[in-house]
Amino acid sequence: MVGTAQDGAKLAYGETVRYRQTLVVEADGPLPEPSIAPVYNGHRWGLSTRWDDNHPNARNVRRKMLENGIRGTFYLNSRQPEKAEGSLARFLSQDGMCSVGGHSVSHPKLPELTANQTFYELLDNRIALECLTDQPVNSLAYPYGQFQAKDRPEVLHAVSEAFLRTGYHHCVYSGFVMGNPHLPAGVVTTGLQVVPGDRAIEAEKFWASLGKIRAHEANYRQTSDCIFLGVHPWQEGPVLEELGEVMAKLRDWDDFWHCTQTEWAAYAKQRHDTKVVPGAAGSYGIERPAAFELGNDVPLTLVFASTAVRAATVDGVPCELRQADGKTYVNVPHAAAFGLPAQIDRAGADGNAEKFPGLKASLTLDPAGNIVCTLENGTGAALTAGLLTLALPPACEPGLLRWQQPELAAGEKWSATATAQPVREGEYWQGGKPYVAAQFDFVRDGERGRLFATAFGTAP
Ligand SMILES: [Zn+2]
Repeated sequence: MVGTAQDGAKLAYGETVRYRQTLVVEADGPLPEPSIAPVYNGHRWGLSTRWDDNHPNARNVRRKMLENGIRGTFYLNSRQPEKAEGSLARFLSQDGMCSVGGHSVSHPKLPELTANQTFYELLDNRIALECLTDQPVNSLAYPYGQFQAKDRPEVLHAVSEAFLRTGYHHCVYSGFVMGNPHLPAGVVTTGLQVVPGDRAIEAEKFWASLGKIRAHEANYRQTSDCIFLGVHPWQEGPVLEELGEVMAKLRDWDDFWHCTQTEWAAYAKQRHDTKVVPGAAGSYGIERPAAFELGNDVPLTLVFASTAVRAATVDGVPCELRQADGKTYVNVPHAAAFGLPAQIDRAGADGNAEKFPGLKASLTLDPAGNIVCTLENGTGAALTAGLLTLALPPACEPGLLRWQQPELAAGEKWSATATAQPVREGEYWQGGKPYVAAQFDFVRDGERGRLFATAFGTAP
């Protein structure tokens, strides 16, 4: 089977693979219609942390967090190629209590780069971090917090295009997300940052900031239902102990879902994108985004304003229940077939991927803008549920193309082709080497995998 340009359909920003489940609820008597809880498991707030840069003290901050029941995300650069084993990203994200987020390849001031360089900095960083951790990365912190430039509106436009084409759907900068005309409505989420202090803990100021959120809750919730601490993991010695004291008090300061930003982003997106349709008595159809596209497999929480619920199953799998304040929270897990990748890799210069022996991928972009992505399945088993996503340079439209590849048989070779069509002119948009990336999601022997291939074109 040979793919053609016509096979690649435009993928709208925020659009995902969706699938259906059937939830069956057993109850003592009739139930009111359920709603989707704003926060996982019906908690009042998400509570997370955000720590930037590859600082070695991140390891100590993580330990202090876990000692005090606090979780969160470390936003890392990827300046050098690294082995996964022994890497900071792998250490910080081990066991899933914390995760990593994107912070660009080399920590530049993005407004000083061309659109092509900006795109490379964001997307290549996400790919590097996913390969190091074998976990999807869905959240970004801009280096120096810079995503726009005075009197140059094209910078916010290009940075937004680069963000969306990278596949991020969460950003720690609420100023980037709220009121940004270049982001489609409802596609990108954010949080409410409170700062305990990077070099010295200013506890009084910190609790005052939290108190303000609580006092003006309705206003703040228009931005997010997630509060997070930041910004740098620099606290050592006695300052780290003080940070630990703040965290110990914070743990039960409110009814928190302690989460990573990755989990928060995935929950917030599925809350927005899921449809629940009542069926025959006690059953509900659920149409929701796939976990591997959300970036995390946190269950979806349905709320019934009743305590009559006795049990619930989704496609035969039991759901966890929590009852509080006269309500029942039903946590609906994702179907295993739409779960997370077990391994994530990038094809090397020779096309081979160490984690998927026999699977080859190549990607090329010629000076005329012709893009060819070729996959060769020498793994000895069929690859199913294939999904190829191509991200194009910011000067081009559309920004994302997607091909469905239901089965790539053992020994089969498949190519997808596309043309990069620049619609934005000028040195800012077209200067520097254009960069393209292909993401191939697939299932082999019942296990989900993800393989990236990347390529540079030539500068005009
Ligand atoms: Zn930084």
